[in-house]
Amino acid sequence: MKKDQLLTRRRALLAGAAVLGAAGAAGTARLLTADEPAGSPVRNTAPVAGPPVRRALKPSAYRLRPLTGYGPPRSAPARTVVRHEPFLRISGRGRSMVLTFDDGPDPRYTPDILRTLREYDVRAMFFVCGEMAVDNKDLLSEMADDGHVVGNHTWTHPRLTELSRSGIRSEMERTSEVIEQAYGEPPQWFRAPYGVWNRAAFQLGADLGMEPLAWTVDSLDWTTPGTRTIVNRVEDGAAPGVVVLSHDAGGDRSQSVRALRDYLPALLDSGYHLTVPRRQFA
Ligand SMILES: [Zn+2]
Repeated sequence: MKKDQLLTRRRALLAGAAVLGAAGAAGTARLLTADEPAGSPVRNTAPVAGPPVRRALKPSAYRLRPLTGYGPPRSAPARTVVRHEPFLRISGRGRSMVLTFDDGPDPRYTPDILRTLREYDVRAMFFVCGEMAVDNKDLLSEMADDGHVVGNHTWTHPRLTELSRSGIRSEMERTSEVIEQAYGEPPQWFRAPYGVWNRAAFQLGADLGMEPLAWTVDSLDWTTPGTRTIVNRVEDGAAPGVVVLSHDAGGDRSQSVRALRDYLPALLDSGYHLTVPRRQFA
């Protein structure tokens, strides 16, 4: 093994247990569990949110860090490991699951989803498109206020395999910028439209400090199969570590909105902890 491979491997090991499972099988991402600063909105833990800070300081040292303002630390993109495949699920103690909503935000549906999540005090992930986010920045700041995680889902939702490298870069960079403006910090996760990934997407995502996250269970809500069918797919797919894909934009999403009102309390009643993944930085 060459030295740079060793370094990469070491970085990967330092990046957390998530990576250990990534050889061969799909990796799992670390969870924000109840034992960690549970329930605390991700954005409000700003002192620990910046990768360089996380690398350099132990949690106890954060208190020694001078308060420099209310904004999140503006940091250079983290030294993020370049993956060869996206994470498909998450690891964590107990019956934890992650709900993700793609393609928004859409003022017709996203506020309803946010309201339902708030009602049950649940954090979720929103993989937003830049062209939607730029016109709905208020919804991104609402997501930040509620502690949801916002990820990068490109600007125009293209198939990345049909773009040049600079085209992919532009799609991802612009989206990260608008997220940083509206959400308050740059995204730490990205998801390729249609789940179509390529090497450039992994490299550019890592350049921008983001980890790739796909999903375990596809609710196929975009086919508008009926609210009951969406509910059944989510409930049938429920299992520890599962990442659920749904949509809050890209068409008529009223079934997705109604389904959430049904499966969310059911999952909670079944003992599931709906949460968001937590990055570990080398
Ligand atoms: Zn999408």
